[in-house]
Formats: sequence, structure tokens, C-alpha cells
Amino acid sequence: MARVFWFRRDLRIQDNVALNAAVRGANEDTDGAVAPVYVVDLEKFEALSPGRQHSLVASLDSLGASLDRRLTIRHVRGLANVAQEMILLAKAAKAERVHATRAFDPDGIAEQNAVGIALAEAGIFLQLDDSNYAVAPGLVNKPDATAYRVYTPFYKAWSPLAANAPVKLEPPKVNWLEPVECMGRPVPAEPSPFKIRAGEAFALRTFERFLLRAVKTYDEDRNRPDMSGTSHLSHALAHGEIHPRTILARLGDSPGEIVFAKEICWREFYADVLFRNPDSLTDYYDPRYAQMRYDTGSVSDERLNAWKRGETGYPMVDAGMRQLIADGWMHNRVRMIVASFLVKDLHLEWQQGAEHFEYLLTDFDPASNAHGWQWTAGSGTDASPYFRIFNPITQGQKFDPNGDYVRKYVAELRHIDGADVHEPWNLPNGYEGGYSRQIVDHAEERNEALARLAEIKQQH
Ligand SMILES: Cc1cc2nc3c(=O)[nH]c(=O)nc-3n(C[C@H](O)[C@H](O)[C@H](O)COP(=O)(O)OP(=O)(O)OC[C@H]3O[C@@H](n4cnc5c(N)ncnc54)[C@H](O)[C@@H]3O)c2cc1C
Repeated sequence: MARVFWFRRDLRIQDNVALNAAVRGANEDTDGAVAPVYVVDLEKFEALSPGRQHSLVASLDSLGASLDRRLTIRHVRGLANVAQEMILLAKAAKAERVHATRAFDPDGIAEQNAVGIALAEAGIFLQLDDSNYAVAPGLVNKPDATAYRVYTPFYKAWSPLAANAPVKLEPPKVNWLEPVECMGRPVPAEPSPFKIRAGEAFALRTFERFLLRAVKTYDEDRNRPDMSGTSHLSHALAHGEIHPRTILARLGDSPGEIVFAKEICWREFYADVLFRNPDSLTDYYDPRYAQMRYDTGSVSDERLNAWKRGETGYPMVDAGMRQLIADGWMHNRVRMIVASFLVKDLHLEWQQGAEHFEYLLTDFDPASNAHGWQWTAGSGTDASPYFRIFNPITQGQKFDPNGDYVRKYVAELRHIDGADVHEPWNLPNGYEGGYSRQIVDHAEERNEALARLAEIKQQH
């Protein structure tokens, strides 16, 4: 009896425990035939930015190549049809069992529940194994069996559990089966605004290069958007082209490697928090913040659009927002700066920024995005206190000391040398390149944000 393997956010063949379960099961049953399938929900696909569409297509393309071009891609619309398609695929493969990596985010859980129920009604079993994490969400608990709400103790409890050896595809030669005709890759609406490199082999190469290039200095350089001091593995992790097990197994105990493992743990912490608090995907984790006064109306809408375009008049914010448009990625330090600006300088709700990030980020991850935003907004776990408001000017001077990052993304400021680029208003020719004037005054808005915080503090 063949098995079906349902690829979702685990687009790789090595270190894939659920895929190994399918291959092993198929070998025990018969000739080891496994039908690898990917079902594209066009409703979801069409809601992605062109960059995200191309990035998924590139990942599928690379996965198809590692499956001897036997990946069956099917297109449907809506969750009910995903479920029906899985039944059709399983029946066509004559399989009684479909395998997949267990999802832990709200959408993934809903999808796997719907598919599992539909398959069961058709007499087919959905077997879910492993997770996209070194430790599956829900498994790191305090001694009293409750969840950690703060990162540092979570990290201490997570570390010993996270040290597991990666697994190889076993046996390495699989009889991949194409049960029905492949509909091909989904077609993005527009050309990609940037060059996409994706896939398992690329992820592994990126990791190897990072180990040689930057891991040893990661603790010092990871906050510098003007340098390539981070791994750039977030796209690969979000698509499951590399498993965190593979990463952690190669890390030693130099300061850079320890800090890097801690960042991997942030991803796992947020996945755990979202799993236990699914509403925090879109709601305030700390409900007091829902009571805060936020701005709405046409002026706010204009400010939101200026923020999205990278035309706030604050060079570091604008460079970050333009990096997001230009590359489909933004440096972590700058994500914090632009998020703080949206919530604390423009007084908009974090969800508005998170939605924009979701549209454009090729590394979009529901847990890291929602909780990265909530952390910066002050409403999340381990929150930076609301009164810690990022100053976009001093942050730029500190983390982009020569102004190279700003000049790379903000063409109107390229005529300014060195760190002066962070304060064009101090120069007689600062605006000669046509750069925008500041849409708000940071010092005033900081006071306004603190006043609004005092109001909710009083209410509670
Ligand atoms: C407002 C906001 C939104 C964010 N949205 C996302 C998102 O949608 N997807 C996403 O993967 N990351 C998100 N992050 C976290 C972080 O910015 C990115 O993971 C990181 O910039 C990716 O670059 P890298 O792979 O070079 O990171 P590295 O510094 O090399 O880190 C290695 C890996 O660790 C994980 N990681 C690092 N920092 C964090 C963090 N603060 N939180 C969670 N995981 C982390 C990522 O998986 C990353 O790939 C967000 C952060 C903020 C402040």
C-alpha cells in the first residue's frame, strides 16, 4: 500500500521525521511507493505579495527537483476543497494513510483538523509527526506543568530538550509516485521585484556559509543592518527548507554560537506562546492594551501609507520600509525600529503593521510576526516596557554608524556623507535630493504615547 506525503511548511527531504515515517511505512507495506503532494489554496496564494508568491514557487520548484520531478502540485480554492483534494489524491495513490508534519499555528491546526476529519470519513488516516521546531510547542513546561510566559526561563528549560540529532532520509532512494497529473506551479500575478533563491540545498549552503562567515561574531554584529552579520535563514525556516535540529546540531559554545541558538529559541518561544494563546495572533496578548487610545481617520491612514512607502521623513524607518519592499526581508533591528514608530509615534495598532509585514515578508511566520509586533508594542510576552520607545534617530546613529544602510535604500539621501544622513534637517542641502519632511515630531509623539499609557495604567 502506498503512502501519501502532504508537504506544507516542511519543503525539504532531509531531517524530515514525518517524511521518514511515510517512507518507512511504505517500505513495510509494499514497494516503498510514496506520493509527495502539495495542495495550493489559490485563495491564500492570491493574497500574497508577488515577492511571496515567487518565493513559494521557487521553494516548490527546488523541492520538485529533489523528488525526481514527481511532486504532484494541485490547485484548489478554499479549505473544504483542500480536504476533498487530499481524499482524491489518497484514493488515486491507493493509500490508506496520509502523512504530514504536525502544525501548531492556528491556521495550520484548522487546516489539518479539517483534512484529518474529511480523510477519516473516507476511511483514510492522517498521521501527523514531529513539528517545525526543535521542541514542539506545548512541551516546554514549568515544574508545575504550566507554561512559561517569559523568554529567559523558557530558554533554560528548552535548551536541554532541543539537543536532538538530525535524521537522514532513510532509505535514501524512494519510489516517488505521481498519483494524478501535476497542475504545475501556481503562477504569480507579476514578476518578482527581487531575485529569489530558495530550496533545501540553498538553505544548507547559506547555513554553511554563515558558519564560516559570521557565526563567531554574531553576538556583536547581529544588530548592524549595514553589515551582513546575521544568517538570512528566516525564509528557509519559514518554508521548512531547513529544520532547526540541523542548525542546532552544528553550533558550538562560542559566544556567537550561543547567542545564535538563543535567537532560534525566540522563534520556538513565540510558537509556543501562540500555540497556547491562539487569539494572540490578532488580539492583544495583554488585553489592557486593547483599551489604549489609537488614532484612526484620514490623517492616520495617510500616515500609515507614508510608513508603508518609506516616506516618514525618518531615515532609519524609511530605509527599513524600503528594504522590505526591495528585498521582501528586513533586518531584525530595523523591524523593531519601524514597529515602534508605527505604534508609538503614529499611535496605530500593531495589527496594521503586522498585516503589511505578512503581505510582504518572504520569511513570514505567524508566531514570530504577531509576537515580534506585540513585543515592540509593549502588549506581548516579556514585553519591552511600553515606555521604552525607540528613538529612530539615535537608533540609526548607533546601529548604522556610517549611514551606509540608509544610503543603500533611500536614494534621496545618497548625497549626504557619513552619519549626517540620519539628520538631514541639520544640513543646508539635506533635502536637495527630494527627501520627505518628517510626518510627525518624535519628541512630541513620545510624550503623547506616554500620556496614553498613563491613561490605561490608571484604568487598571
Ligand atoms: C515586528 C517584527 C516582526 C517579525 N516578523 C517575523 C516573521 O514574520 N518571520 C520571522 O521569521 N521572523 C520575524 N521577526 C524576527 C526577526 O526579525 C527575523 O527572524 C530575522 O530578522 C530574520 O533574519 P535572519 O534569518 O538573518 O536572523 P538571524 O539573526 O540569523 O536569526 C536566526 C533565526 O532565528 C530566528 N529569530 C531571530 N530573531 C528572532 C526574533 N526576534 N523572533 C523570532 N525568531 C527570531 C529566525 O528564525 C532567524 O532566521 C520579526 C521581528 C519583529 C521585531
